[in-house]
Amino acid sequence: MKLRKNDFLQLHGQKMELDESGIDLDLKGKHPQIVAAQPARFAGEAYATSGLYMVEGEVEGTLTMECARCLTHFPYAYRVPVKETFVDEKEAEIELDEELEIQAFDGDDMELNPYLEADILLSLPHTLVCRDDCKGICPECGVNKNEQNCGCVVERIDPRLAVLSELFGKQNK
Ligand SMILES: [Zn+2]
Ligand SMILES: [Zn+2]
Repeated sequence: MKLRKNDFLQLHGQKMELDESGIDLDLKGKHPQIVAAQPARFAGEAYATSGLYMVEGEVEGTLTMECARCLTHFPYAYRVPVKETFVDEKEAEIELDEELEIQAFDGDDMELNPYLEADILLSLPHTLVCRDDCKGICPECGVNKNEQNCGCVVERIDPRLAVLSELFGKQNK
């Protein structure tokens, strides 16, 4: 998604409505669980003020994620607020640094996609599961336990308890 500096300059203080669909974002693999990204939509507004070009709105879309527990693919819908400030490199009167969070652009176009992608990735939880009670995959036989009950008995000893029982065992001797 691109915004042209020229469009901003014709606004004369007015706001410009933005609504663009079919935005192809490069998100696949940028989070370990993203398998695919459907085209996104951005809706919001843009305006220019004292040499700054402001873009504000929301990006929404659907990602295909791989469940962290059972590895099946499931759709994950997001809707993420976006707020970016741009300045034309050639017009910048201030020293730009990371902390100001002002993005410099070179020439006539502002390319919004990298910022949309970053905002979406930041909004994602560290791990995603297909549903809260996903039972995952059986470590013994590899069956997806949401679909099938394999009946395997998996012995799980909590390592903290194992240490305690060892301690108590020693004391009792
Ligand atoms: Zn799952
Ligand atoms: Zn099993």
